[in-house]
Amino acid sequence: MRLKERIALVTGSASGIGKSIAVMYAREGAGVAVADRNAEGAEQTSEAIRSSGGVSMPVAMDVTDEKSVEDGMAAVLRAYGRLDVMVSNAGVQHIDPVVDLPFDDWKRVLAVHLDGGFLTTRAAMRHMVETGRGGTILYLGSVHSKAASPLKAPYITAKHGLLGLCRTVAREGAAHGIRANVVCPGFVRTPLVDRQIPEQAAELGISEEEVVRDVMLRHTVDGEFTTMADVAEIAVFLAAFPSNALTGQAIIASHGWHME
Ligand code: NAD
Repeated sequence: MRLKERIALVTGSASGIGKSIAVMYAREGAGVAVADRNAEGAEQTSEAIRSSGGVSMPVAMDVTDEKSVEDGMAAVLRAYGRLDVMVSNAGVQHIDPVVDLPFDDWKRVLAVHLDGGFLTTRAAMRHMVETGRGGTILYLGSVHSKAASPLKAPYITAKHGLLGLCRTVAREGAAHGIRANVVCPGFVRTPLVDRQIPEQAAELGISEEEVVRDVMLRHTVDGEFTTMADVAEIAVFLAAFPSNALTGQAIIASHGWHME
């Protein structure tokens, strides 16, 4: 029970990595607000947590919308009276070479990762500063916070940008007991990745098996995907870490795809 008596909000937790973090946080004793623009999915994740004995509430939240974030955060504070951990996880992908990339898709992807990261951070930090209890803010970065691949310009730009936000929050938050870190996974088999396999195959003129083997996992040490459980385990570790020794950092979990 590494997160006993903590309250956490995880964005994008109706699916994939966010869901896995929400479920593991609850298992570790935290009360978890499952926030997602997919309200039905948020309700399902939250119900799954409650039916296995955990504490959870669903929050319908579009992280790109200021009012939606503010209202969602207020609902969590009304219900639980506190927030100790905020995980900015909601994300989307778009596959196109820069020369074909529609401006609207560029803006949409940046908005989910960067506007979403900012709005949820600001709402969480205001509460953490005001109460003087501090807390932890985590961002889902990616190996693409550190390295580039073709066809993903807005995603890679946004994931690099989150490092800047995290480091600023680490600096500004320290005086208030607020720590900020980024988790940077390699490829994890989630709906976000499953959607891009056929898209990349079409764009690169290769088979889906080749996308997995020769593009996604090519530079790993063992040809293995990182798992949702791997990422959730790191998110628990960072949320439970007891001092400012670990703040402003980006932890890479990618089967050796990216080493530094
Ligand atoms: P996913 O598609 O399974 O889940 C993403 C969730 O975000 C969905 O439930 C979706 O409804 C929600 N979402 C999207 N836009 C939103 C918005 N505007 N407001 C609120 N919720 C919104 O994706 P995933 O693979 O679990 O990705 C989660 C995070 O992990 C993302 O930030 C992604 O970039 C990052 N990541 C994923 C991988 C991977 O290989 N899957 C690797 C590195 C980083």
